[in-house]
Amino acid sequence: MSTYDVAVIGSGPGGYIAAIRCAQLGLKTALIEKYDTLGGTCLNVGCIPSKALLDSSHNYETVIDNLEEHGISVPKGVKLDFAKMVARKDAVISQTTDGINYLMDKNKIDVYHGMGSYKDATHIEIEGEKETVTIEAKKSIIATGSKPATLPFIKLDKERIITSTEALSLKEVPKHLIVIGGGVIGLELGQVYRRLGAEVSVVEYQDRIIPTMDKAQSRELAKVLKKQGVKFYTSHQVSAVERKGKEVTVTATDKKDKEVTIKGDYCLVAVGRRPYTEGLKLENAGVQANERGQVEVNDNLQTNIDNIYAIGDVIRGAMLAHKASDEGMFVAEVIAGEKPSIDYNLIPGVVYTWPEVASVGKTEEQLKEEKVAYKSGQFAMRALGRSRASGDTDGFVKILADKETDEVLGVHIVGARAADLIAEAVLAMEYRASAEDIARISHAHPTYSEAMMEAALAATENRAIHS
Ligand code: FAD
Ligand code: NAD
Repeated sequence: MSTYDVAVIGSGPGGYIAAIRCAQLGLKTALIEKYDTLGGTCLNVGCIPSKALLDSSHNYETVIDNLEEHGISVPKGVKLDFAKMVARKDAVISQTTDGINYLMDKNKIDVYHGMGSYKDATHIEIEGEKETVTIEAKKSIIATGSKPATLPFIKLDKERIITSTEALSLKEVPKHLIVIGGGVIGLELGQVYRRLGAEVSVVEYQDRIIPTMDKAQSRELAKVLKKQGVKFYTSHQVSAVERKGKEVTVTATDKKDKEVTIKGDYCLVAVGRRPYTEGLKLENAGVQANERGQVEVNDNLQTNIDNIYAIGDVIRGAMLAHKASDEGMFVAEVIAGEKPSIDYNLIPGVVYTWPEVASVGKTEEQLKEEKVAYKSGQFAMRALGRSRASGDTDGFVKILADKETDEVLGVHIVGARAADLIAEAVLAMEYRASAEDIARISHAHPTYSEAMMEAALAATENRAIHS
């Protein structure tokens, strides 16, 4: 029987990063993955494929709708080869997952393909296609991720009533895609298909889309998406989803109990994800999960069993690839006896629609609820020379800072390249910068990042230059 210092179960951005960091720290490491390819949800059916389709559909939309104003006339009859777009997405996935194989070899990590389950706290059985093996691991890390959640009355047929996984590999562009859930997945994939010509209707239970982000971001993104033709049913509770042949009918009621019926040809259920521990046989190791199915961990990401740790989507907190990766590094260092730290308040969140939406720290609603005295500086993208040059004039940067100390408490962006702009805010907040610190840093001209400087100036003394 092979023996390891650490076995990692699950090869997503939590697990594979944890394995690499363990190996870097001199620990003999095994990585166990039930699928044939490594990389987990993120690389196979999540972050990477969705961004590939977002980029491809953005290019299509640019050619169809946005080149004319740049003085480029596009011949009529531009054709969409959707099958090729999906095939390109698959090629991007393969390149990326192959990269993980290379990294495993490079770091001398033993990879086992098969379903991992605990026999006891130090033995893991791996049921592969051809054989079942058992390994011994002094310590193990549960990084088994999550699966799409659904509603109890919905029967996912995975053909027309689908999750994000199927939505990333459709054979045709829907005529009318009904999306249940106006969160990250619903809006990213909704925008992909809207750009490709589908009618898109989003049914959201809360009174606004992306309800966990700052309210101003919800408003701005809804405004832009409505302009692009997406239809929203906010404050609507879905009560039934039915399919007859190629037709899908979604029934929902608003707050006054008024019923609406929406008919389409596909329904994407995007109401969140649930932790995935099926088949792990946690009970054999004595590991506890809570009522939401999350593996319970302490601040060191250690479960109730001393030698077993857990990270990523399978534990509490944001279901984000970089959160899982940060925890992967953290836990490897804890196992190696180091004292790492993670500030969960500083994990940014991004929605990769266009304009992009990005946030870090506290929202205005949270600061109000926590009764923190704050000031706010906001700067509209449309006032930037860079935005006018590219034509990307939607959005803003909003900086929230402590009223007394000027320390930055939250940064919320909607706009071109917001996903990259937010890194400046994360760095600033990590070093506990004030809004004035950001305002005094030189920002290259012309760049979108000047909106950070202007919003910081506005927050400091209401002295933005270009507004
Ligand atoms: P996962 O990536 O889910 O990996 C877990 C792995 O464990 C899987 O490969 C699974 O097969 C394996 N496994 C499970 N049980 C066993 C077992 N018993 N034995 C062996 N193997 C097992 N996040 C972002 O930050 N940015 C994005 O842009 C983004 N886009 C997304 C788009 C979509 C459509 C979706 C669905 C998600 C997206 N996410 C994004 C979320 C992100 O994918 C997850 O937060 C991230 O993958 C979680 O990483 P993880 O390592 O915890 O788990
Ligand atoms: P989400 O939590 O972002 O959004 C789910 C939405 O569904 C919420 O707005 C919620 O109010 C709504 N909802 C819940 N029940 C409903 C009901 N009965 N009727 C109507 N609406 C309902 O979840 P998601 O979009 O499914 O994404 C799952 C996870 O994957 C998220 O945690 C997200 O962080 C992650 N993800 C991240 C990215 C990214 O970082 N860009 C992209 C995709 C997914």
